[in-house]
Amino acid sequence: MIELMNVTKEYNNGVKALNNISINIDKGEFVFLVGPSGAGKSTFIKLLLKEVEPSSGRIILNGQDITKVKSRMIPHIRRSIGVVFQDFRLLPNKTVYENVAFAMEIIGAPYKNIRRQVPMALSMVGLSNKADSYPNQLSGGEQQRVSIARAIVNNPGLLIADEPTGNLDPDTAWEVMKIIRRINRRGTTVLMATHAKDIVDVMKQRVIALEKGQVVRDEQRGVYGYEG
Ligand code: ADP
Ligand code: ADP
Repeated sequence: MIELMNVTKEYNNGVKALNNISINIDKGEFVFLVGPSGAGKSTFIKLLLKEVEPSSGRIILNGQDITKVKSRMIPHIRRSIGVVFQDFRLLPNKTVYENVAFAMEIIGAPYKNIRRQVPMALSMVGLSNKADSYPNQLSGGEQQRVSIARAIVNNPGLLIADEPTGNLDPDTAWEVMKIIRRINRRGTTVLMATHAKDIVDVMKQRVIALEKGQVVRDEQRGVYGYEG
């Protein structure tokens, strides 16, 4: 599903955010991406979303070399990836339903598909009863669940979560993790960058640890392995 071959990303200032890394992630895997601040986690995610270009190396996503595609194909690539952020990024003037529907509208999905899929996505995250609420009427955990519904409503093969529990208290964080795990069990590949040591240690999933732009650890049923 995701294959990085000897990928290096050097920014204009000469910083090598990723230094010759090779990583393989199969369809359906659940992967934690860990490492201290500055290790290269965000750069890794941005490369997959084509927000930055590698300086060298190849990145294969769903069998396609995304380092070679034309820029007009970028929206098509992004469509195959759902993204969840630490700070939710919901539209404040749209309801829960409209926030999720919007992700389908912008890709030009037919109205009848929107009508069908938005309620399914909201049900998946346990928020069917909040469809008409606005984001500021929801708790942090509920807002994150809306953002997860938005990320999965187009049925992406890959869900990227960048520190999704960073703004949540521990109980709420676990509710969100259960939902992400359920989405993974239905076949969606999950890549989650996190500093949540407890969650990583309890869930015993694959852990890829970055440090100074290199893979220092890649373990099935791994642990967080850092102090901070
Ligand atoms: P992490 O997400 O693990 O904190 P990042 O990928 O954000 O790591 O950063 C990796 C390294 O690249 C850091 O040294 C950071 O300062 C540097 N970096 C990130 N983005 C840029 C940029 N746009 N320009 C220059 N350096 C950057
Ligand atoms: P239309 O007015 O053409 O039906 P929409 O389907 O976008 O337009 O929905 C209009 C309003 O109805 C939205 O503000 C939305 O909050 C609400 N809504 C639509 N479908 C649902 C649903 N399945 N559950 C809850 N609210 C819904």
